[in-house]
Amino acid sequence: MEQVNQRTYVVYIRDNKENTILNMAKESANVYNQALSIFWDFFDDNQFLSMFDVQKHVDFPRTLLHSDSYLAALQQAYKAICSFLASKKSYEKNPEKFNGKPMPPREDKETFAIFFKKSAIRVKNKKLLLSTGDRKKPLSFRWNAKLGTPKYVVISWKRETGWQLSMVLEKKNKTVVSQIEENIMAIDLGVKRIAATYDQENTVLYSGKVILSLMRLRSKINGETQQKLKKLKKHSRKYKRIKRANRRVVLRINNKLQDILHKTSRTIVNDAVGKNITKIVAGDCSGIHDSPNLGRINNQKVVQCPEQRLLRYIGDKFEVIGGIVETIPENYTSRTCPSCGNVKKSSPSGREYRCSACKFRYDRDGIGAINIFKKVSFGCDWQSQSLPDVVGSLTPPIGWKYNSSQDCLVHSG
Ligand SMILES: [Zn+2]
Repeated sequence: MEQVNQRTYVVYIRDNKENTILNMAKESANVYNQALSIFWDFFDDNQFLSMFDVQKHVDFPRTLLHSDSYLAALQQAYKAICSFLASKKSYEKNPEKFNGKPMPPREDKETFAIFFKKSAIRVKNKKLLLSTGDRKKPLSFRWNAKLGTPKYVVISWKRETGWQLSMVLEKKNKTVVSQIEENIMAIDLGVKRIAATYDQENTVLYSGKVILSLMRLRSKINGETQQKLKKLKKHSRKYKRIKRANRRVVLRINNKLQDILHKTSRTIVNDAVGKNITKIVAGDCSGIHDSPNLGRINNQKVVQCPEQRLLRYIGDKFEVIGGIVETIPENYTSRTCPSCGNVKKSSPSGREYRCSACKFRYDRDGIGAINIFKKVSFGCDWQSQSLPDVVGSLTPPIGWKYNSSQDCLVHSG
């Protein structure tokens, strides 16, 4: 069985000597601006133009843009108008739901994104070719032919990084996880240990130390920048320079964080596949539980804290190959002794969990994962003392630390 997934990739690019990209972006902006002003002119005369009507009136000369890119800029303008009118309408109904009054799309863009549709994208001789208005001179970028031909490409300008090429690629994934019998891996998410997994045989602890120190570094740099900016006049040259420098450093830190989270999630998913796991269940620490039912992870939710992002990445990677990822509320999972069911009054303080009733000892984060596993397997009775023993064959936890050059599969004890 195969599953087709759409993935978005971003690469940073440079303009050529003739500034073709810049000039195309300017042309795109002119089409966009003109489409907006035509629409509003008619709108002021109580005429609501359709997309097709707008297209008829736009007469900006097309030189550098491919006809589809020209049309796409126009469509984007029309889309911006429609979404503005829609949000204006709902703002008038209940304004309290909005942070502020919706603003109409601006007409004075100097540059605008350049859109390439299927007809304008080709891959030839390890080059990605994007058609322009001049058939003989497409934009050309080095390309790995193995990736296939993108379905959609957008070139846009970002202040921090310059020109970027975003594309949608279709990727076929083989289903490697068959759901015939259920094998569960439990994950406890944390901060110092970003994740601990348990699968009835092994406990693996994933260190979050590098992530933590990068996040501290980021807030320290942000704090220092704020201090420096306070003394300066807003929008002065020095002010802008410091802000720019800060953006660059923070972007680099964020990229590093993302890399670590991707590698950690890849390692967890590879480990799960190797052990024939069909379902990964995580303790949900977001705190809000409407029902005790198992719930699917909401991928749309914008998550800031790294452990939630890690869980989302695990979901992305495990689900495309046929796996299931779910969350359950994690009440008491860090305080209950997995051996005898005794519940501590407060969360254990050290790195080690010690049960006062049965003298059971184990790594604290491992306990969380074991209890999540028990909770999934035994339901509400998971704390009962008459359960089959899960800790009898428990092995010492295995540690995993991020290393930028390390292969994802390596575990170090
Ligand atoms: Zn105990």
